[in-house]
Amino acid sequence: MSIERESLAEVRKHTRELAAKFDLEYWRQKDKNHEYPWEFVHAFRDAGWLGALIPEEYGGLGLGLAEAGVMLQEVAASGAGMSGGSAIHFYVFPPAPVIKYGSDEMKAKWLPKLAAGEILMCFGITEPDAGVDTSRITTRAEKVEGGWKVNGRKVWITNAQNAHRILLLARTSPRDEKRPLDGMTIFFTDFDREKITVREIEKLGRAAIDSNELFIDDLFIPDEDVVGEVGKGFTYIIDGLNPERIVVGLEGIGIGRLALQLGSTYAKERVVFDRPIGQNQAVAHPLADSWIRLEAANQVCMNAADLFDQGLPCGLEAAASKYLGAEAGFEACDRSMSTHGGYAYAKEYHIERLWREVRLLRNAPFSQEMVLNYISSQALKLPRSY
Ligand SMILES: Cc1cc2nc3c(=O)[nH]c(=O)nc-3n(C[C@H](O)[C@H](O)[C@H](O)COP(=O)(O)OP(=O)(O)OC[C@H]3O[C@@H](n4cnc5c(N)ncnc54)[C@H](O)[C@@H]3O)c2cc1C
Repeated sequence: MSIERESLAEVRKHTRELAAKFDLEYWRQKDKNHEYPWEFVHAFRDAGWLGALIPEEYGGLGLGLAEAGVMLQEVAASGAGMSGGSAIHFYVFPPAPVIKYGSDEMKAKWLPKLAAGEILMCFGITEPDAGVDTSRITTRAEKVEGGWKVNGRKVWITNAQNAHRILLLARTSPRDEKRPLDGMTIFFTDFDREKITVREIEKLGRAAIDSNELFIDDLFIPDEDVVGEVGKGFTYIIDGLNPERIVVGLEGIGIGRLALQLGSTYAKERVVFDRPIGQNQAVAHPLADSWIRLEAANQVCMNAADLFDQGLPCGLEAAASKYLGAEAGFEACDRSMSTHGGYAYAKEYHIERLWREVRLLRNAPFSQEMVLNYISSQALKLPRSY
């Protein structure tokens, strides 16, 4: 299978045209007013794209990862950045454990609603005291008649202001030093606002999409909401990480490409010392260098997506995709900031929002340090530090 397959060009064309209906000013206002971009989500819903990775039998499009990646890259590159990227992303990746490990009843009941954009979900893994060491989560689910009672705390949970369902990771048996990642279970359950208190976190960027702390007190989860087998939740999460890393890399590249476009337009128009600033190599070369880095990162991401779609191992390639896409995307935004001079700080030039949003990708959903840890131990066989 070629990474230039025809369906990619078609997805790129359609999603680019659709995303272009929402201009940079739309996103500036959403960011400024902290408003969820529902109009954008509904446009993608109406065109059927929310169910990109959901199998056709459950109302989705059943596309490959490469197609989903191209769609999210176009979303990011349209000016939607991570505000639009995350809004669409949450229909595409968090359902992965349900698609792969959910019961037939769970899939039949919920996947069509997700594909149709009738419900919004959130993804509850991160905890304040565990950080990137997920084995240390302390949110606990205790067995009770007919289900589980959950208590604990989560942090940085995207979409919790509006979510109808939560994919929640909790400990169902105590941490065992020999097998620290066993004994955690994934639940896909109602977001019961009587039992889950939500507090929004004010943050640097992507203000249109809420991030929250959750306080969970005696939340009852019925047995039917357990995803797959009790105790195997971490394995299921890991399974969905490679595709997400590849697509996050592609989103970073999309933002970087737009930043270069904004930077080079400005460099052609802004005249100082009687010439366009882009005639100065000190201005042009960093942008040209970023173009090369974005193209190289894109090749790595698309190769990883192709491996994934062929069912081949792609852990190292997926980690490299996320790393390169985040770096190349941030660098392109940062250089475009320099090109814009003082106006980089002016909201009307839009580059400052992209710069704030793309910076997120260095830290989340998987930090650059953890990518390097993974490559060190898996590709280079160095001793593990995590
Ligand atoms: C806007 C936003 C949205 C998010 N959305 C969600 C969501 O929807 N659901 C969800 O569950 N989570 C979400 N997250 C959480 C995100 O995945 C975590 O923030 C991320 O995993 C980092 O967690 P931390 O800050 O606790 O890092 P920490 O564990 O405190 O780490 C801090 C720093 O130390 C580094 N570090 C730690 N240990 C090592 C080591 N052994 N070697 C090298 N470096 C190390 C880390 O890489 C990091 O740079 C979101 C985060 C943000 C910012």
